[in-house]
Amino acid sequence: MADFSLETPIAYLKGVGPKRGELLSKELGIFTFQDLLYHLPFRYIDRTRFYKINQIDPEYSSVQLLGRLIKLTSVGEGRKRRLVGQLKDETGIVELIWFQSVRWLENNLSVGSVYIVFGKASLFNNQLSMSHPEMELYEPKMKNKGNQHLQPVYSSTEKLKRFSLDSKGIQRLVLNLLDSIYTSIPESLPDYIREKHKLILLREALGAIHFPSDESALSLAVNRLKFDELFFLQLKILRTKTINQQKFKGAQFHQVGNHFNNFYRNRLPFLLTNAQKRVLKEIRRDTISGAQMNRLLQGDVGSGKTVVALMSMLLAVDNGYQACIMAPTEILARQHFHGITELLGDGICSIRILTGSTKKKERREIHEHLLSGELDILVGTHALLEDIVQFQKLGFVVIDEQHRFGVEQRAKLWRKSFIPPHMLVMTATPIPRTLAMTLYGDLDISVIDELPAGRKPIRTVHLFESSRLRMFGLMREEIKKGRQVYVVYPLIEESEKLDLLYLEAGIDTLTREFPRPEYQLSIVHGRLTPKEKESEMQRFVKGETQIMVATTVIEVGVNVPNASVMIIENSERFGLSQLHQLRGRVGRGAEQSYCILMSTNKLSREGKIRLETMVRTTDGFEIAETDLQLRGPGDIGGTQQSGVLDLKLANLATDQQLLQTIRNEVIQIFESDPELKNEENLLLKNYLNQKIIGIAWEKIS
Ligand code: ADP
Ligand code: MG
Repeated sequence: MADFSLETPIAYLKGVGPKRGELLSKELGIFTFQDLLYHLPFRYIDRTRFYKINQIDPEYSSVQLLGRLIKLTSVGEGRKRRLVGQLKDETGIVELIWFQSVRWLENNLSVGSVYIVFGKASLFNNQLSMSHPEMELYEPKMKNKGNQHLQPVYSSTEKLKRFSLDSKGIQRLVLNLLDSIYTSIPESLPDYIREKHKLILLREALGAIHFPSDESALSLAVNRLKFDELFFLQLKILRTKTINQQKFKGAQFHQVGNHFNNFYRNRLPFLLTNAQKRVLKEIRRDTISGAQMNRLLQGDVGSGKTVVALMSMLLAVDNGYQACIMAPTEILARQHFHGITELLGDGICSIRILTGSTKKKERREIHEHLLSGELDILVGTHALLEDIVQFQKLGFVVIDEQHRFGVEQRAKLWRKSFIPPHMLVMTATPIPRTLAMTLYGDLDISVIDELPAGRKPIRTVHLFESSRLRMFGLMREEIKKGRQVYVVYPLIEESEKLDLLYLEAGIDTLTREFPRPEYQLSIVHGRLTPKEKESEMQRFVKGETQIMVATTVIEVGVNVPNASVMIIENSERFGLSQLHQLRGRVGRGAEQSYCILMSTNKLSREGKIRLETMVRTTDGFEIAETDLQLRGPGDIGGTQQSGVLDLKLANLATDQQLLQTIRNEVIQIFESDPELKNEENLLLKNYLNQKIIGIAWEKIS
C-alpha cells in the first residue's frame, strides 16, 4: 500500500484520480489530503431520530421515517414514466415519487414491507410528497434502526456535481481519506494542554467532525478544533509580541520635567478623568520600562484621547526626544494642530504641522528644524511617512484613527529612529475585546471608558419620513438657541451620481425650510477639493453657518462643541459603528444634544436592530458588540490581514470566553518558557518554525 501523508496530493486518494483531483483544486482549493480533511461539513442531517408522518413539515430539510409501503404503481409512459408509492404509519400517509431507476425500484421494493425512508418532503398540490427518498428495508431482528449518525453535508459546486462529487460524493472521499490516513494524523497540542482543557485527540476530533455518532460527539469535536484555531492564532500573535519585547529596546523617559509639569499646572483647563489618569500611568510605566511600547488606546468619541496623547508627547520632550502625531486626513490633522496649539499656548514647546498641502518653503524649514532638533512636536498626515522627513531624535509616535493605517505604515514610522519610538495608536472605534485580542493582539490595550464630567448623554430618536416636520421643528429650536446642526447623507458607493442627487434634493428642501439670510448652510461632499472642504468646514467651525450638510466626510474626528444636533438621513443605510461615530460629533459641550435618525418605513430586520441599538445606548463598546454579532468580524476594519477570516469554526462573537481562556494559556506558556525550549512545548516550537502540521486554515483559501 502506498505511503500516504497529509501532504499527499489529492489525486492519489482512492476515488479521485487526475481529472477529479484537478477539479477539486480548482473548485474548492483542495490540493492535498490535508485540505480535504479540513473541508468540513457545513451542516448535518439528523439521522438519529425518526419522524412521524404527521410531524413532517416541508420547511424541514431531510427527515427519516419508519412506515409500511402500502402501494406502488408506475404512472405515465416513456420519459414521463414515474413510480409512485404510498408510505403509511400510525399517523398518516405520505406519497413517494421516483423519476429514475423506475424499473429497478419496481423490482426491488416490496409492497407490504416496512421501510426506513429518508428524504425531503415538499408540498405539491396541497399534498405532502417525497421525491427520490432513500429506502432501506427495516429488519427488526437485525435491530437496524436506520442510520444512527448525523450525516455530513458538504459544500460542492455545479462542476463537481457533474463528476459525481456532490455532497454524497465528497462524503465517500472523506471516508476513503480517513481510512487511509486516520492513524497518521499527528497530534498538534502537547498532552499537558490537552489534558488541562479536557480536549479529545486531534485525530478523533477530525474523524468525529465528519462523521459524528451523535450531538455530544460532535460538540467535543467542534470544541477541540475551535481550540486549535484560536490557540495557534494566539500563539503566533503573542510570539511576535514576546520577540518584540525582547528585541526592541525602547527609549527610557526617566523624568517628568518642565514641559509636562508646566502644562499640567498652568495650562490644562479641566480635571483629567480617572480613565485618562489611568491611561497616562500605563504609558508612563511603559516608557520607563526599557522596552518599546506598542499600545492601543481605545476611547469613545469625545472621551478625551487627544490630551492624553499630548501629555505623553510632552513626557518625551521632557526627556530630550521629539514626538509626532499622525492623522488620516488633512482636516483631522489641522484639527489636532489647532486643538493642541490652543491647549499648549505659547512657550511650552515648538510645534508645526506638515501635510500634503504644506508649501515647499515651509516644508523645507520643517525638515531642517526636525533634523536640528529645534522642533519638538510635529502634527501631520501621511506626509510624515515620506523618507525625506527625518527626525533628530524621535521618541514617541501617536497614530490617530488607526484603522485607516496599515501595519506597513506603522512599521515605516518605527524605522524613523535608531531606537524604535514608542507607539500609541488611538482609535475611536471601540472594538470588542475578543476582536482586539486578535486584531491588535500584539499591542497592549488601554481603554478610556469614561466621558469627561458634565456631559449630558445624547438623546437619540428614530423618526420615519412622516415625522419630518418634527425634525425641522427641533432644528429651528436649537438654532434659535444659538446651536448648530449637522445633516448627514449616506455615501452610496455604487453610485456617486445617485449620491449627489440625494444630497442635492436634501439641500433644496433645507434651503426652502431655512432660507437665507436668516440661515446659512455649509455644504461638504466628496467632489470638493480639500481646500474647498476646509473653507466650508471653517465657516461652520467659526459659527458663520448654522447648518452643515455633508456626506460622511465629517465622520472622523471633527470637533465643533457648539453643534448640538446630528441628523442622519437614510440612517438605515449606515453601519452601526458609523452611526456611532457620527453621533459622537455632537454632545461635546455641556448642553443637551440630540441625534435624529431618519429612515424609510421599510427596514430590514438588521436595519431595525441597528437603529434600536442606537436609540437604546450610547456605550461604544455595547454598540461594537452588537455590530460584531450582526455582521461577524469579516467587515470590521483590519480583519483582512489578521487571520480572523480564516477561522472556520471559532466565532469571535460567541466564543469570547474560550478565546480569553486560550489567550491566558498562551500568555502563561510564554511567561514560563519564552523561547519554547521545554520538551513539553516542542510541538509548539515546531509549529512556529515550520507551520506545516494541522493548520490547513492557513493555506490561503
Ligand atoms: P477624542 O477622544 O474623541 O479624541 P478629544 O480629545 O477631542 O476626544 O476631546 C473632546 C473634548 O473634550 C475636547 O474639547 C477636550 O478638550 C475635552 N476634554 C478632554 N478631556 C477632558 C476632561 N477631562 N474634562 C473636560 N473636558 C475634556
Ligand atoms: Mg480625536
